[in-house]
Amino acid sequence: MGRGSSRGIDHGYVLGGDVMATAVTMTEEQYHEHCNEYNGLCLKCGEIRFGMTEPDAEGYECLDCGEMAVQGIENAMMAGNLEIVSDDD
Ligand SMILES: [Zn+2]
Repeated sequence: MGRGSSRGIDHGYVLGGDVMATAVTMTEEQYHEHCNEYNGLCLKCGEIRFGMTEPDAEGYECLDCGEMAVQGIENAMMAGNLEIVSDDD
């Protein structure tokens, strides 16, 4: 804060990466689990990469499709590729 940068959470803000046509949805609980376990989201195939992906990672390799398109879970949410849904019924 206060260093002249306004890199806050802002809808539609893209962190230099791709944006998926449809955001992946998960509950807040799942989101925190993915953060804690350093999981990431592949923007190409929509698969979760498990482990070794910092929340602010960008361009990591997807083990499912082989693309360098895995985004850290926090980045994915800020870029609009991940949407938190309520798990209430
Ligand atoms: Zn993939």
